[in-house]
Amino acid sequence: MKNTERMVRDIERSLKTLNKLTPALVADLVRRGGTRATPERSQSNGPRGKGTHSDPTLAAVVRKLSGNSSSDPIFDAVRSIALALDDIAKQCQHIDDAVRFATNADTKESTIVYCQACGREIAGTPADRVRSGYCQADYQRWLRAGRPYRATFEAQVQQEFSETL
Ligand SMILES: [Zn+2]
Repeated sequence: MKNTERMVRDIERSLKTLNKLTPALVADLVRRGGTRATPERSQSNGPRGKGTHSDPTLAAVVRKLSGNSSSDPIFDAVRSIALALDDIAKQCQHIDDAVRFATNADTKESTIVYCQACGREIAGTPADRVRSGYCQADYQRWLRAGRPYRATFEAQVQQEFSETL
């Protein structure tokens, strides 16, 4: 069956990449990206000992993304990895929900699902709820924006949401 083959191939391809990203490699990537990612740190005069760098959290990464843009290709590469991984983790959560829904569809089990962007309860049919993990409004916005990294999109929605309070 063609769909089955394609899905299995996608799974194998994804696992191949993710399995390569060992904790040691991730730590190394963060170290490489983090050392030059914070200009204020590199301007300090003292010698930088091993392990004294601070790991850039995703929040910091997103902040950096919306703030001053650096011309640091290594940081940019690590940032794109962090964003993609966050995206994958959220897509996995979405897959879990969709699998649960598809395999329990006949039980008419009703579960409350919250939009991963604005946090509001997602109304509508169960099929609507598992479409993207977003409410209809945010799903349409996300599509119109060209399906950006979910972490980037969600940070933007949350920022706009907090500004309207
Ligand atoms: Zn929403």
